[in-house]
Amino acid sequence: MSEKNENEMAIPKELMTPAAQAYMNAQLRETIAAMFRELAPTLQSIALTPEKIQAMEDARRAPSDTQVAHVKREERERAMQREDIETARKQRETMQNNCPHKYPNGLLALATISNRPDRQRLLICLKNHCLIAPGMWVVGPPDKDNPRGRAYFDKPHPDYARLIREYDTAHSGQ
Ligand SMILES: [Zn+2]
Repeated sequence: MSEKNENEMAIPKELMTPAAQAYMNAQLRETIAAMFRELAPTLQSIALTPEKIQAMEDARRAPSDTQVAHVKREERERAMQREDIETARKQRETMQNNCPHKYPNGLLALATISNRPDRQRLLICLKNHCLIAPGMWVVGPPDKDNPRGRAYFDKPHPDYARLIREYDTAHSGQ
């Protein structure tokens, strides 16, 4: 199936000898080798080295200025939110510490919570939601040694004994 290309030059007969062929092959090899020797610096400079690939990948993955600004704004907003929550917590604490747990007419503003498994009664203030608890075991948030939460004994509220007596006295006549 080999068709002779019309443009192909016929090889002169005197060049078909093995010696001439060997000579031409050697010449060709030398020419190609010389060409590559000359090109070597260029080839080296355009070669994709691991360092270059890493640099391109780093550039591609680097966050843009907009993304950086976005993250910074979110951080600022979260910090402000944490501050607000902390301020509100302190205000509530102060209010509850100063709360008499009584209505203006002198009646106790307390109710009991008695659905605990240890059958102890907790007092809750209906004015400021103060929780006045006896000493009790509490399961706190988990940490690395206690994946199901860390149990600890919570000390009684300093006014619990007095207030539960007042509560029982107030409700004994009913
Ligand atoms: Zn109260």
